[in-house]
Amino acid sequence: MDEDLQRRIGHNEVVFRDVNEGISRGRWPGEGAVPIAFRCECGEIGCSQMIELTAPEYERIRASSRRFFVASAHEIPEAETVVESHADYLIVEKRDVAARVAEETDPRS
Ligand SMILES: [Zn+2]
Repeated sequence: MDEDLQRRIGHNEVVFRDVNEGISRGRWPGEGAVPIAFRCECGEIGCSQMIELTAPEYERIRASSRRFFVASAHEIPEAETVVESHADYLIVEKRDVAARVAEETDPRS
Protein backbone atom coordinates (compact mmCIF):
# COMPACT_ATOMS: atom_id res chain seq x y z
CA MET A 1 0.00 0.00 0.00
CA ASP A 2 1.48 3.37 -0.94
CA GLU A 3 2.20 6.07 1.55
CA ASP A 4 -0.46 8.51 0.26
CA LEU A 5 -3.21 5.96 0.66
CA GLN A 6 -2.03 5.06 4.15
CA ARG A 7 -1.94 8.72 5.07
CA ARG A 8 -5.48 9.23 3.76
CA ILE A 9 -6.81 6.28 5.73
CA GLY A 10 -5.03 7.59 8.80
CA HIS A 11 -6.65 11.00 8.40
CA ASN A 12 -10.16 9.60 7.95
CA GLU A 13 -9.85 7.61 11.13
CA VAL A 14 -8.58 10.66 12.95
CA VAL A 15 -11.73 12.56 11.89
CA PHE A 16 -13.94 9.87 13.40
CA ARG A 17 -11.82 9.85 16.56
CA ASP A 18 -12.52 13.59 16.93
CA VAL A 19 -16.26 12.98 16.44
CA ASN A 20 -16.16 10.27 19.08
CA GLU A 21 -14.26 12.47 21.50
CA GLY A 22 -17.15 14.92 21.17
CA ILE A 23 -19.72 12.17 21.80
CA SER A 24 -17.74 11.02 24.83
CA ARG A 25 -17.58 14.53 26.28
CA GLY A 26 -21.29 15.10 25.66
CA ARG A 27 -22.53 12.15 27.68
CA TRP A 28 -24.59 12.65 30.79
CA PRO A 29 -22.63 12.48 34.05
CA GLY A 30 -23.07 9.25 35.95
CA GLU A 31 -23.82 7.17 32.86
CA GLY A 32 -20.58 5.21 33.10
CA ALA A 33 -22.12 1.76 32.76
CA VAL A 34 -24.57 2.67 30.00
CA PRO A 35 -23.35 1.90 26.47
CA ILE A 36 -22.88 4.96 24.26
CA ALA A 37 -23.19 4.76 20.46
CA PHE A 38 -19.89 5.77 18.85
CA ARG A 39 -18.99 6.01 15.18
CA CYS A 40 -17.04 3.16 13.62
CA GLU A 41 -13.50 4.47 13.19
CA CYS A 42 -12.67 2.62 9.98
CA GLY A 43 -11.19 4.65 7.12
CA GLU A 44 -14.26 4.40 4.89
CA ILE A 45 -15.79 7.82 4.19
CA GLY A 46 -19.30 6.40 3.72
CA CYS A 47 -19.32 4.16 6.79
CA SER A 48 -22.05 5.11 9.23
CA GLN A 49 -21.95 2.01 11.42
CA MET A 50 -22.44 2.67 15.11
CA ILE A 51 -20.61 0.76 17.82
CA GLU A 52 -21.82 0.72 21.42
CA LEU A 53 -19.18 1.03 24.12
CA THR A 54 -19.39 2.00 27.76
CA ALA A 55 -17.33 5.01 28.80
CA PRO A 56 -14.64 2.86 30.51
CA GLU A 57 -14.29 0.68 27.38
CA TYR A 58 -13.96 3.77 25.24
CA GLU A 59 -11.36 5.29 27.58
CA ARG A 60 -9.34 2.08 27.58
CA ILE A 61 -9.02 2.14 23.78
CA ARG A 62 -8.33 5.89 23.71
CA ALA A 63 -5.46 5.46 26.16
CA SER A 64 -3.29 4.52 23.17
CA SER A 65 -2.99 7.03 20.29
CA ARG A 66 -2.49 4.16 17.84
CA ARG A 67 -5.65 2.26 18.75
CA PHE A 68 -9.04 2.59 17.12
CA PHE A 69 -12.24 0.54 17.16
CA VAL A 70 -14.04 -0.61 14.04
CA ALA A 71 -17.00 -2.85 13.18
CA SER A 72 -16.17 -6.47 12.39
CA ALA A 73 -14.64 -6.79 8.89
CA HIS A 74 -13.99 -3.02 8.71
CA GLU A 75 -10.31 -3.40 9.55
CA ILE A 76 -7.67 -2.54 6.94
CA PRO A 77 -5.03 -5.27 7.17
CA GLU A 78 -2.51 -3.27 5.12
CA ALA A 79 -2.41 -0.46 7.68
CA GLU A 80 -3.40 -1.94 11.02
CA THR A 81 -3.28 -5.06 13.18
CA VAL A 82 -6.30 -6.45 15.03
CA VAL A 83 -5.31 -6.61 18.71
CA GLU A 84 -8.70 -7.57 20.22
CA SER A 85 -11.87 -9.15 18.83
CA HIS A 86 -15.21 -8.54 20.53
CA ALA A 87 -18.72 -9.67 19.60
CA ASP A 88 -19.62 -6.40 17.86
CA TYR A 89 -16.32 -4.72 17.15
CA LEU A 90 -12.57 -5.05 16.77
CA ILE A 91 -9.77 -3.04 18.33
CA VAL A 92 -7.04 -2.30 15.81
CA GLU A 93 -3.59 -0.83 16.18
CA LYS A 94 -2.09 1.32 13.43
CA ARG A 95 1.25 0.56 11.85
CA ASP A 96 3.79 2.66 9.97
CA VAL A 97 2.52 5.85 8.32
CA ALA A 98 -1.03 5.45 9.65
CA ALA A 99 0.37 5.09 13.18
CA ARG A 100 2.43 8.24 12.77
CA VAL A 101 -0.58 10.24 11.57
CA ALA A 102 -2.64 8.91 14.48
CA GLU A 103 -0.01 9.90 17.01
CA GLU A 104 0.73 13.32 15.55
CA THR A 105 -2.96 14.26 15.62
CA ASP A 106 -3.96 12.72 18.95
CA PRO A 107 -6.13 15.38 20.64
CA ARG A 108 -5.04 14.08 24.05
CA SER A 109 -1.29 14.34 23.62
ZN1 LIG B 1 -16.65 1.21 9.40
